[in-house]
Amino acid sequence: MNSKYKIVVLIGLLLLILSVSITFINYFVSLNSTEKHLRTQSLPLSLDNIYTEIQKHIIEPYLVSSMMANDTFVQDWLLSDEANNQKIQKYLEAVKNKYSMFTTFLVSEKTGNYYTQDGLLEKIEKENPNNAWYFKFKHIQESHEINLDFNKNLSNSLIMFINYKIFDSNYSYLGATGVAIKISYIDDMLKMFRQKYHFKVSFLNENGDIVLSEKDIMPERNIDELPNLKKYKSEIISKEPLNLEYEINNKKGLLNTKYIPELNLYLLVEANLDDFITDVKDIFFINLFFSLFISIIITIIITYMIKKYNKKLEYLADIDLLTNINNRRVFTLKLEHTMLFHQRHEQSMSLLFLDIDNFKDVNDKFGHIIGDKVLVRIADILKTNIRKSDLLARWGGEEFVIAYVNSSIEDSIAVTEKLKSLIEDDYILKNLNESIITASFGLTILKKEDTMDDLVNRADMAMYESKNNGKNRISIID
Ligand code: GH3
Ligand code: MG
Ligand code: MG
Repeated sequence: MNSKYKIVVLIGLLLLILSVSITFINYFVSLNSTEKHLRTQSLPLSLDNIYTEIQKHIIEPYLVSSMMANDTFVQDWLLSDEANNQKIQKYLEAVKNKYSMFTTFLVSEKTGNYYTQDGLLEKIEKENPNNAWYFKFKHIQESHEINLDFNKNLSNSLIMFINYKIFDSNYSYLGATGVAIKISYIDDMLKMFRQKYHFKVSFLNENGDIVLSEKDIMPERNIDELPNLKKYKSEIISKEPLNLEYEINNKKGLLNTKYIPELNLYLLVEANLDDFITDVKDIFFINLFFSLFISIIITIIITYMIKKYNKKLEYLADIDLLTNINNRRVFTLKLEHTMLFHQRHEQSMSLLFLDIDNFKDVNDKFGHIIGDKVLVRIADILKTNIRKSDLLARWGGEEFVIAYVNSSIEDSIAVTEKLKSLIEDDYILKNLNESIITASFGLTILKKEDTMDDLVNRADMAMYESKNNGKNRISIID
């Protein structure tokens, strides 16, 4: 490969390596900062938001349940053998309506009656699985609990029950009361977190049961069914907040957890890193494309510039800058080739040497600038009055050379005579020099056995002959 193109390829490659490296570095930096932001900001913030949201919705029903359990009317009514059901029904109805609860209820330990705002609903029985909550609740240490239940009998949505124990003034247990609220807002909230932030939110109880998750999104019912998280079960079900990194199908998952004491549940917010780096990836591919594109464009521009400057250099190497005609170097190259061609094809050609007469005097009298103008004018006269196929050059100083290509000696003489008189008669030259400018010419014809030196020497000699014979003439040496 040409050395100048080797350099272009090298520059192109370096440029490519540089821009692609920068693109990759950018990509990894963005990837890291996205992950860091997710881990240290988005996930913990979402966790806190969900927690606050849930607390906000729990506090009011919590207070209402507590108020009901401590209401002396309720206690007295239970102690008075539950006389007049309508009284308690009205009470439950009033509380339900005032605080916009889904339902209000009261269970009497003594009679096993289950009252709601609609009156006596049923008798609580140990054998009825729907009533299991009551017997469990009765035996817990705490005075209250929150239960989440997806109760199809009540409504097709998740219900939160807040159960409170009722005691009389002697601390003997009278029964349970409380309220229930629909918490479909939780489902909406979980859906919003998934759609808007790509977070998967779920709630686990202490057994690892997934008691609350977005409907239809998480079919699993226990953490043991989640292979990625199963092994972290004991860390998740701990009251300490957790910030965990784990694998999901060879991709990175991030998990933050928080214990919610009011619900005795563990809140889990999961994020799949892949969902957050699509923008970073897109930008990476766009950058990569531009890196390649720009590297190619720059390489093309460099190649073009090198070609252009090379052409200019070649031109400068071939041209005489003053007269704008070929110089001696390129003339001899062309002459050699032309001579060989003519000798092989036995065509005639001739060589003319031309030296301006007394040119030194022009410089001496009018200065170099005028001398230069004379040289330029003579070059113009020569160029415009020979055939395009003839070779013309400035041999050096005030000497010019012409190869009359495919031209008989007679034709060559005729053209030379014409050139001689054009120079003599040229009014521009006359103006520059304030008198006639003449030149001495030496002409010779190419011989079959001639080397280039032979030919050039003969023409030179012929020109000197003209000088010696009084200048301003044409001498011919066969
Ligand atoms: P002769 O009739 O014997 O040829 O005499 P001459 O004065 O023409 O020849 P000579 O060799 O004594 O002087 C040539 C002069 O041409 C000397 C040199 O300063 C001048 N010359 C050569 N190149 C240039 C040029 O590029 N510009 C100018 N202005 N003068 C040049
Ligand atoms: Mg000379
Ligand atoms: Mg001269």
